[in-house]
Amino acid sequence: MLTPFETELDHLRSAGLYRTLRLIESVQGPEVTIDGRSVLLFCSNDYLGLANHPEVIQASIEATERFGTSSGASRLISGNMTLHEELERKVAQFKGTESAVVFSSGYMTNLGVIPSLVGEKDLIVADKLNHASLIDGCRLSGAMFRIYPHKNLKRLRELLGKRKQYRRAVIVTDSVFSMDGDIAPIPELLEIAQKYDTWLLIDEAHATGVLGKHGRGSLEHFHLSPDEHLIQIGTFSKALGSFGGFIAGSKNLIAYLKNTARTFFYSTSLPPGVLAASIKAVEIIDKEPERLKNLWKNVARFKNGMKEVGARGVYPERSRRAVPLPDSETPIIPILTGENERTLKLAEELFKNGVFVPAVRPPTVAKGKCRLRFTVMATHTKKQIEQCLERVEEIIGKERNC
Ligand SMILES: *Cc1c(COP(=O)(O)O)cnc(C)c1O
Repeated sequence: MLTPFETELDHLRSAGLYRTLRLIESVQGPEVTIDGRSVLLFCSNDYLGLANHPEVIQASIEATERFGTSSGASRLISGNMTLHEELERKVAQFKGTESAVVFSSGYMTNLGVIPSLVGEKDLIVADKLNHASLIDGCRLSGAMFRIYPHKNLKRLRELLGKRKQYRRAVIVTDSVFSMDGDIAPIPELLEIAQKYDTWLLIDEAHATGVLGKHGRGSLEHFHLSPDEHLIQIGTFSKALGSFGGFIAGSKNLIAYLKNTARTFFYSTSLPPGVLAASIKAVEIIDKEPERLKNLWKNVARFKNGMKEVGARGVYPERSRRAVPLPDSETPIIPILTGENERTLKLAEELFKNGVFVPAVRPPTVAKGKCRLRFTVMATHTKKQIEQCLERVEEIIGKERNC
């Protein structure tokens, strides 16, 4: 007799949905050691390469030596330390908002903020391709939860036609969609939020440190200013090379969240070493603007390379095995591969040939929309990008011929 776990695991394996973890044996960087072998890393969110920046590491060590390894309690008990408030001031300054509050992770931020904003008498309208943590926050809130097709503003307006039946309403969206790499139409969404008197909650996880001339995120990208309708979520765990989440907004919003968000209340606050790393990372974004420039240079390099590979007929259109490049506008550059098994096989082949990129499968993406999700970092060299593209061409080319 199989136990329920064995049955479920068998089911996952036979559907090509079983997950195995790769074990990184080195520091994070454009090249990492796995199974004693050096491989090119093309799936990290450490976009600016700050996770192993010597000054960030040093700041973290010094804070740990001075303040210890833990905050010892939640912020509301005895876990509110000088570094928490220093980081919050830095984030508000960085984002150009009145105030900010940090949470233990981006996930925890979303689980906290959405149920604080809306509840049973309220309405959420959300993009179909939102990140799982936003979806979970929406579900947890108990509000009426309606979904519009990806970036479909017409449907969004229709759903908001019922706005008056509800007390409060919020539009919820990723700013940069984490599996497609495209950008939400924030200016239009903000206009809709103003018109229908809703909040617009944007998740800047992949926008912070990446979008805008100075990496401030999508407001800077679109030349918008903070607005009372707008609430920005972010994370320190991606381009900032650290860990933790935040909300940036008005003084009143932040005071309200500190008084109501359950993940703020009931979880131990971030430890000193992590806070100091985040503070230093925010400083370095301004101090070393060439990182952001390199990131975008590499994005262009990678995308152009992919297009050239395509032009050589490696993934011809309309073939069963077509690998069109979707509408990525950011360092997230997926190539669509379709089914689970095929995607797994391609990822495995690439790995054997020294390129680490994950096979993204359901439930992370819809069925039949599996992909190899490449992400580019500021710290990749031209040569590393060329090597990656060569391997992709070889392996997808070989697959076509068999
Ligand atoms: C990664 C991610 C999160 C979660 O952030 P963590 O700090 O890693 O918990 C939230 N939202 C989006 C859109 C993300 O991509």
